[in-house]
Amino acid sequence: MILALVGNQNSGKTTLFNQLTGSNQRVGNFPGVTVDQKFGEIRFAKNCTVVDLPGIYSLRAYSNEEIITRDFILNNKPDGIINIVDATNIERNLYLTLQLIEMQIPIVLALNMMDEVRANGGTINIRVMSRELGISVVPISAAKNEGIEELINKMINDAKNKHYPKRIDFCEPGPVHRCIHAISHIVEDHAEKLGMPPRFAATKIIEGDAHIVSRLKLSQNELDMIEHSIVEMETEHGMDRDAALADMRYSFIEKLCGRTVVRPRENREYLRSVKIDSVLTNKYLAIPLFLGIMLVIFWLTFNLIGAYLSDWLALGITALTNLVDHGLIFLGINPVVKSLVVDGVFAGIGSVLGFLPIIITLFFFLSILEDSGYMARVAFVMDKLMRKIGLSGRSIVPMLIGFGCTVPAVMATRTLSSERDRKMTILLTPFVSCSAKIPIYALFTAAFFTHYKALVMIGLYLSGILTGIVVALISNRTFMRGKPVPFVMELPNYRFPAFKNVMLLMWEKARDFLQRAFTIIFIATIVIWFLQNFNLRLNLVSDSNGSLLAAIGQWIAPIFKPLGFNDWRISTALITGLTAKEAVVSTLGVLTQSTAAELPSVLSSMFTPLTAVSFLVFTLLYTPCVAAVATIRRELGSAPKAAGLVAAQCGIAWIISYVIYNLCRLILY
Ligand code: GDP
Ligand code: MG
Repeated sequence: MILALVGNQNSGKTTLFNQLTGSNQRVGNFPGVTVDQKFGEIRFAKNCTVVDLPGIYSLRAYSNEEIITRDFILNNKPDGIINIVDATNIERNLYLTLQLIEMQIPIVLALNMMDEVRANGGTINIRVMSRELGISVVPISAAKNEGIEELINKMINDAKNKHYPKRIDFCEPGPVHRCIHAISHIVEDHAEKLGMPPRFAATKIIEGDAHIVSRLKLSQNELDMIEHSIVEMETEHGMDRDAALADMRYSFIEKLCGRTVVRPRENREYLRSVKIDSVLTNKYLAIPLFLGIMLVIFWLTFNLIGAYLSDWLALGITALTNLVDHGLIFLGINPVVKSLVVDGVFAGIGSVLGFLPIIITLFFFLSILEDSGYMARVAFVMDKLMRKIGLSGRSIVPMLIGFGCTVPAVMATRTLSSERDRKMTILLTPFVSCSAKIPIYALFTAAFFTHYKALVMIGLYLSGILTGIVVALISNRTFMRGKPVPFVMELPNYRFPAFKNVMLLMWEKARDFLQRAFTIIFIATIVIWFLQNFNLRLNLVSDSNGSLLAAIGQWIAPIFKPLGFNDWRISTALITGLTAKEAVVSTLGVLTQSTAAELPSVLSSMFTPLTAVSFLVFTLLYTPCVAAVATIRRELGSAPKAAGLVAAQCGIAWIISYVIYNLCRLILY
């Protein structure tokens, strides 16, 4: 049995999905987190699969993720729909419910967030609501795990016994009513062939849904009749077609809620949110406050908590490395094998692993910002700025995800309804610095800018964003002309971050990081170790300057000479960085044969603070890793375009590093 979770964005679908299946899908207090459908087995019901779908406000689909949800219901015909409704926002949520009922699939209404409604002293008359809508209604709280079993039992019962909604017509007699009936009649045969309920087809045709119209394969004559009857309704009713249908649904909802919902007090969470917002989204204060908050977070992460934990871990790793080193000598192991283990694997993975606490700390803070609802405000505040550079405020969500990893960020661009906005966002996401680059930054700031770590970090992030803005302005005026689609986003109430969500996000980050360290980075270190210790004839070399790697590196090194670093080891590190950005650090570790704790001091002999800046700017801006490039290729649907993007990024990175390096040199010397 397949049950679909359908509801508005931010209504708690993923929270319910996780409760039902025991899985750990990403939950976020901002819209657009779920962009794909996810399947899971219900723990306490046999042979029952639930599907988490992207949030939608209406079955009139515009963007890709809305189409995913609608097509799932239309084509896959789930056995039942769990319509999850945010009870604190019930009127708007029911708008979708009325359309879902038209689909003629067993449906149960899950009134979520009842904990908040009750805390405000509100009540909802479930019995009357259920009778008026003609479907089962179950009050639940997904977050507090209340009412969920009852919900599933009702759902399974309704689905098994094929209890279809008892009522589909929520319209008062009048012109709209007549129009829907007339059109249902005209399209009945076509719709039934497709297995589409005629009434659903009719309302979508009135709303002008081109997908549905083309699927129905209506004759010209039928189309003319339909148009005639819609125009007649518009003149009689004095409203255009969209407004007429919205009006029909909302007047029913208003009446229904008038009879069933008691709201004695203003929603406390809402009032509190308005108060907080008067400061945090204030016209003048919003951006300085955001930068201030980020600076504090960076300071806590890179100067205080994260750095402290990282130092300890690095010492631990160094001690372990030495222990293994001595152990292998003691056992009389072949020196080449010992070198592979100690100078290769331990130096490489060890140097990267040391940064795990920094990443976890950073994402601890970021997930608090996100789960509290603050990140949604950031999107809202940035919307105006985004518009100025020719992007829609919707692009913010993918970009925020890009701070974690470019791969899901590029996938999240599917939420954008216009192709132009989507391409533009894909073009810019790589300029948002991903978390895999953090070990590089942390290493270099520890080596060269001990007292200004947080400032350098925020400077790097801002430079990436600034470059993105310039690129956006240029492309908006050349090959990406056009206007961004207007963006309406609902701001969720501020909530106290849920411990579980925060932990989940941290664990996700840690797992990704560890996974990469022991797969890609592991392989990269072994390859680098091999190339560094053998020459062209596969003989062991005594001095790595005669190795295969040096030969390759020396060939590439001149490219970077104008940027201030001419060492073949550095250019090699940048090349291995293409597999995964952490590999830059592990490669430097292997090539300088130093442990995590020694690496910063070793680096200060290879770089000056100025060349370190030039190097950091280059790593900030050059191509993301292969996984990201592959995703970009897939989402753009074109290999040449993806290749062009990679080339452009390397070019931009080189030019900006060159300019910064040479300008600073002129000023300083
Ligand atoms: P989705 O967009 O529909 O998948 O919604 P999510 O599952 O991501 O949840 C959105 C937000 O609502 C998160 O911050 C959840 O912690 C919160 N939330 C979900 N269910 C409940 C509930 O029953 N009560 C309360 N108070 N908050 C909830
Ligand atoms: Mg979700």
